[in-house]
Amino acid sequence: MSKSYKQYSLLIWISVILILGFIAVLATSYLVSKDALRRGLSENTLPITGDNIYSEIQKDVLRPVFVSSQMANDTFVRDWMLDGEQDPSQISKYLKEIKLKNNAISSFLVSDLTKNYYYPEGLLKSINQTDARDQWFFRVKNLKSAYETNVDIDLANHDSMTIFTNYRVLDYQGKFMGAVGIGLTLDTMKHLIDNYQNRFQRKIYFVDKKGNVVLASNSLKRQTNILNSPGIDQVAKLVLSNAKNDSLHLEYTIDDEAIYLNSRFIPELGWHLLVEQNLATELKPLQKLLMVNAGIGLGITIAVLLIVLLSVRHYQNRIEKSAATDSLTKLLNRQAFDFVFQQAILDSERSRQPLCVALMDIDHFKKINDKHGHLVGDHVLREIAAISRRSLRESDVICRWGGEEFLLLLKNCSLEKATSIAENLRSTIAANDFSRTTDLTKGRLSLTVSMGVAECRSQESEDSVFERADVALYQAKESGRNSVYFSE
Ligand code: GH3
Ligand code: MG
Ligand code: MG
Repeated sequence: MSKSYKQYSLLIWISVILILGFIAVLATSYLVSKDALRRGLSENTLPITGDNIYSEIQKDVLRPVFVSSQMANDTFVRDWMLDGEQDPSQISKYLKEIKLKNNAISSFLVSDLTKNYYYPEGLLKSINQTDARDQWFFRVKNLKSAYETNVDIDLANHDSMTIFTNYRVLDYQGKFMGAVGIGLTLDTMKHLIDNYQNRFQRKIYFVDKKGNVVLASNSLKRQTNILNSPGIDQVAKLVLSNAKNDSLHLEYTIDDEAIYLNSRFIPELGWHLLVEQNLATELKPLQKLLMVNAGIGLGITIAVLLIVLLSVRHYQNRIEKSAATDSLTKLLNRQAFDFVFQQAILDSERSRQPLCVALMDIDHFKKINDKHGHLVGDHVLREIAAISRRSLRESDVICRWGGEEFLLLLKNCSLEKATSIAENLRSTIAANDFSRTTDLTKGRLSLTVSMGVAECRSQESEDSVFERADVALYQAKESGRNSVYFSE
C-alpha cells in the first residue's frame, strides 16, 4: 500500500510539475504574443493601412485641384473673360478639351460679370443669387482659400463617387472674375476600401465632420452616425475633434471584444478615414497555435508519465528482487533472511510460541556437479527449493543459506515438531527422482540431504542458534548423511 502510494505520488508530482510548466509556458507565450500583436496593430499595421489608403486617394483627390488650378491661371481663359466673353464657342471648345483630356464628367466656367454658366456644349444658363442650386457660386466668391472641393456620392451606384473642384478665377490685379472647375469620378476609393477590407480583414470607412458614415464597403450601413452607434460612440467625439491630418490610435469595446481603431482627418475631403481591426480575429491563428502547443504538451506529458511509470516499476522490481531474493532458486537470500529472522524472534517472544531453525545441506553435491555438470547441479538446487516450499507451511520461511545449503525457519513449532517436519522433507527428497523434471540427464537421479535442527532459546543470540544447528548438521553428516539431527 505505502509502496504504491509512493510510486503514484511521484507520478502525481511529475505530472503536476509538467502540466504547470506547460500551462506557464503557454500562458506567457500567449500573453506576450497577444501584447506584441496588440501593439503592432495599433502602432504599425493600422496606421500603415490608413497611410496607404490616404496616399492612394490623395492622388485622386488632388488631381481635380491641379486641373482647375491650371484652368484658373490659363491666360486664354482670363483674357477671354477680360475681352468681354465675345465668342462662347471658343470657351466651350476649351472646356470640352479639358473634359476629354482628364476623362472628367463635367467642366465649367461661371463669370461673375455676366453670371453666365458655360459648359462644353456652350452657354448653359445664367445663374441667379436667389436660386438655391446656384448658391455655391456666391460661396466661392467669398472664399478665403483659392478653391473648394465637394464630394458627391452617387447613391444609386456604389462604385461611383464624384469630386468637384470650384476654383476662383482672378484677373491680373487679383480681382475675382468667376469660377472654373471640373468633376471627376473617384472610382479608386471604393475599390481601395473593398480591396483592403478583403486583403486584411479590416473595416475601412469614411465619416464626415458630423460623424455620418459617407463611404464604406457594402457591409456597413451608410445611414449610421458614429456618435450614436454602439461601441464606437465611446470614442466618436475624439475621432471628430481630430482636425489635424495626424493619425489617432483609439480602442473601444463591443460585445466584450476589443476593437482597435485608427483615424485620420483628410482635409481635401473634410472627412475622417477610419480603419478598424477586431483583436479577436487577429488572435485566431494564435489561439489555433496555442491549441496545437497544448496538444503537444499533453502528448509529451503522457509520454513522460508512461516512461516514468514503466521505469519506476522496472527498477523497483529489480531492486526488490536483487536485494531480497536469490536469482537461481527465487528463495530469500541470507541478507533478507536476517531481517525476517529478527522479526520472527520478536514475534515468538511476544506470543511465547517456540521458533525452530533447520539447516539443510545436500549430500555429496560436488559429485552431482562433477558427474552431470553444473546445469544439472543448478536444476537440483531449484528442485530442492520447490520441494521444500511445497512441504512447508505458508508461514515458514526458506532461505538459500550458501551454495547448496538451505535454512528453514519454522514458526510456532516445537523442537519435536520441527524435527519431524525436517524428517518428512528429508524422506521426500530422498524418494524424489530429479531427472523427471529435466532433459539434461537420463536415468534416475537421486540424492539425499542432511539436516540439523535447533530451537531458539529465549535471549539466545542469532549466531548461537545457527551454531547449534550447524553442529547438529555436522553430526548428521558424520553419522553417514541422509539423516536429521537436533540440538538439545
Ligand atoms: P557434503 O556436503 O556431503 O560433505 O559434500 P558436498 O559435495 O556437498 O560438499 P561441499 O560443500 O564441499 O560442496 C559443495 C559444492 O556445491 C561445491 C560447489 O561447486 C557446489 N555449488 C555451490 N553453489 C552452487 C551452485 O549455485 N550451482 C552448482 N551447480 N553448484 C554449486
Ligand atoms: Mg555444503
Ligand atoms: Mg553438501
